[in-house]
Amino acid sequence: MNSDIDIAYGSQMKPISEIAKDLLLTEQDWEPYGHYKAKLSQQILDKLADEPNGKIILTTSINPTPAGEGKSTVTVGLGQALNQLNKKAVIALREPSLGPTMGVKGGAAGGGYSQVLPMEDINLHFTGDLHAITTANNALSAFIDNHIHQGNELHIDPRRVEWKRVLDLNDRSLREVVVGLGGASKGVPRQDGFNITVASEMMAILCLANDLQDLKERLSRIFIGYTYERDPVTVKQLGFEGSLTLLLKNAMKPNLVQTIENTPAIIHGGPFANIAHGCNSLVATKTAAKLGDFVVTEAGFGADLGAEKFLNIKTRAGGFEPDTVVIVATIRALKMHGGLNKNQLHEESVDALERGISNLKKHMETIVQFNLPFVIAINQFPLDTEKELKFLTNWCASQGAEVSIVEVFAKGGKGGIDLAKKVIKSCATKTGYMKYTYELENSIEEKIVKIATNVYGAGRVEFTSTAKKQLMLLNKHGHDQLPICMAKTQYSLSDDPTLIGRPHGFTITVRQLTASVGAEFIVALTGDVMTMPGLPKKPAALNMDVKEDGRITGLF
Ligand code: ADP
Repeated sequence: MNSDIDIAYGSQMKPISEIAKDLLLTEQDWEPYGHYKAKLSQQILDKLADEPNGKIILTTSINPTPAGEGKSTVTVGLGQALNQLNKKAVIALREPSLGPTMGVKGGAAGGGYSQVLPMEDINLHFTGDLHAITTANNALSAFIDNHIHQGNELHIDPRRVEWKRVLDLNDRSLREVVVGLGGASKGVPRQDGFNITVASEMMAILCLANDLQDLKERLSRIFIGYTYERDPVTVKQLGFEGSLTLLLKNAMKPNLVQTIENTPAIIHGGPFANIAHGCNSLVATKTAAKLGDFVVTEAGFGADLGAEKFLNIKTRAGGFEPDTVVIVATIRALKMHGGLNKNQLHEESVDALERGISNLKKHMETIVQFNLPFVIAINQFPLDTEKELKFLTNWCASQGAEVSIVEVFAKGGKGGIDLAKKVIKSCATKTGYMKYTYELENSIEEKIVKIATNVYGAGRVEFTSTAKKQLMLLNKHGHDQLPICMAKTQYSLSDDPTLIGRPHGFTITVRQLTASVGAEFIVALTGDVMTMPGLPKKPAALNMDVKEDGRITGLF
């Protein structure tokens, strides 16, 4: 089979004006960014406020392994399949980050015959949203350092500035830096550090704001650090919420593109799911729900991370809930959860599959806890055997779960028709409201314990002495009613990436707690998870190139 980029080059995109026309958008509703991309206006939501919302389908997965699950691929393929069934479907996805694109993963725009296009633009600089978010974030850092340099009226303690600089790359050398070196005219020296843009509060704020006004209010509430008297300092006190809103004005508009089969896709915002809340913007999901009868949207990594935060954070901010959930699993990843290593995956092993199924079972139980229906999508890979596929489908049936073998990578929408039919049926089986894992009134510890025990299956939670001190401060400053954004490894249900399958009785260690007051959540860092990733020994970038005619290679 051809590579993703070759398939992308070989497909026929429609001008974006035709995609907009199919969605019944008027000229005031969108503005072109080249031939195949557009920015959508906020006025769509205002204009269609009284129209009913489409059904929202949330795609999640088992804990991923280096073998790859194909969640974005299934999300795109399912949207295409719904369209083939003459349902008006709109896909909502996150914008890829250059960190994983250059580092480990290559592209993040689906795969095979289920991709969003133009995939090379989407994977690289796209419409500049990540640039704008990075700039707004670093403008605030510059404003803080300048305030300290210019007399420090607010008494900001340079040792207690918590706001960090960001960059949309994996660059471990920037995790800890010292700024302001070089003498009095170069500012006040202080220790700082860089996070990756997609882990930043600025990204989360853009993704959770309902509109420009909400964006500005959230920006004004950002907590940047403490004074010498240990009082919290906010952006409002510095007075920069207006200029930060200005820097993000265009980035707030969702981006419209299309899939290989010309299904509309809205791609907007891109927080990571391990170290941030992991879903595309609220505005994108809401716009998609007004424009389509079905929205297929994705939350990153496994149901323990992206889906948990989609359901406990994003739905609360947006006032909606999904109608059904698709849990993506692959035979090869389940075999890895059953103990096989990467070099053994080509071997048929029903035994390993049977052992690894425990991971899928936990995620099914989690979705049931949320009182949501689900369908299991087995994303078929070329080396899956008949015996393995049969075993897995029989097991799902024995659990009373709907399951579908999906071939959207190899066949596009056609390979997801069965899944689409089951998903439509599943939406109709939803009964009652979704149940959150915790109430906002619960204490911060209670909320974390509920997530750890109910969603991860942990035995207990331990807070380090640093986390305990931070907890006292969060309570003192009245942040105890916020939801929790857990930062945890994606590879395991626990905070130890080597504990695969379904570990039991483990301890989750919370080592740091910080308030993202603008984003409106508390970030709890567990285990060794890093907010600025590093590059692997052989970065994916080594395989990338541009030919003389401008065609690119190696972007998967
Ligand atoms: P996720 O969203 O879970 O991270 P992606 O959809 O980005 O996963 O897929 C990860 C990688 O696996 C991509 O390079 C994609 O092209 C590839 N892939 C996905 N599904 C299949 C499949 N069924 N067969 C072969 N490769 C696949």
